[in-house]
Parts: sequence; C-alpha cells; structure tokens
Amino acid sequence: MRFPYRNFRLGGRKWRVKYVTVQTGLKYNPSAADCHGWCDDPTATIWLIKGDSVEYTLITFWHEVAHAMLYSMGYRDHDEAEVDRLGQMLYQLHTTGAGVIELER
Ligand SMILES: [Zn+2]
Repeated sequence: MRFPYRNFRLGGRKWRVKYVTVQTGLKYNPSAADCHGWCDDPTATIWLIKGDSVEYTLITFWHEVAHAMLYSMGYRDHDEAEVDRLGQMLYQLHTTGAGVIELER
C-alpha cells in the first residue's frame, strides 16, 4: 500500500515523513522501541516505526499530523487525549472521503 504523503506543508514549513525500523528510530529517539511514531517539531519530521499494520500505521500517522498541526499553530503542550481524538478525525476523513466535485469559476 502506498502511504499518503512523503512530505507536506503546514504552517509555512515543509514536514517530512520518515518510515523506519526500530533500530534506525533509536538513533533519533531513545524511546523509539516504546512508541509507534513521534512528531519532532524542531526538524519538522514525523517518524513512523515499521512493523505495525497498515491501518495502525495510518492511525499513528494522523495522530502525529495532529501534533504537527498544533505545533504549527504555536501550541507546545499537547493533551494526548485531544491529539488522539483529532488524529482519529483526520484518519476518518482520510479513509471515508470519496468522490470529486468539479468546482466552477
Ligand atoms: Zn501523541
């Protein structure tokens, strides 16, 4: 399955998505073995750890995008429960969106 984005723009910055093994993740985050992904605001990078199902990886991705959105809006302290709910909404939008509307000028 193809992943939705290798990179994207939020809040004027280009964000990158890294999809790595736990071993590679540990080079960048000592907690990599205990999480499925993380959002690194200073480098504008979303990290995803390989090994989960496609569905779980997508849920993790949208959760981390929710963090990225909050960072991009200037919020530094995130409530994980709120981030999780926002991420679930983004995941739902991603997985249920269908059809195309042709816009008219
Ligand atoms: Zn989180």
